[in-house]
Amino acid sequence: MNSCIFCCIVEGSIPAKILFQDEVALAFEDINPQAPVHTLVIPKRHVAAVQDCQDSDQTLLGQLLLACVKVARMKGLAESGYRIVTNTGANAGQTVFHLHLHVLGGRNMAWPPG
Ligand code: AMP
Ligand code: ZN
Repeated sequence: MNSCIFCCIVEGSIPAKILFQDEVALAFEDINPQAPVHTLVIPKRHVAAVQDCQDSDQTLLGQLLLACVKVARMKGLAESGYRIVTNTGANAGQTVFHLHLHVLGGRNMAWPPG
């Protein structure tokens, strides 16, 4: 089995509540939600973090961001607002080393984040 938990979700060997997917991206519900809406958007191809992306990943990164906007629309957050976050490395608290964008909404968000 793949040692990356998000690759396992892409393969279907670990279950997830999938919101939608296309050729490059998968959107599914975070298992430990930090807000009324907390959905993760990942590339289907394994990339550890945003800093591991290359010039050739420009289109992919745009597609992931647009997938987040689609999540927000589907969840009815377009009017109220939402936050898109990608944690990168230890100080940011990254725990899963497969690039993912958090889409958080449905409540007021503090700034600066903790
Ligand atoms: P990060 O700390 O930015 O690396 O975020 C990792 C996120 O993945 C956390 O919010 C976890 O709750 C979430 N997570 C970990 N395992 C799973 C899983 N099997 N299904 C859904 N979300 C997960
Ligand atoms: Zn992976």
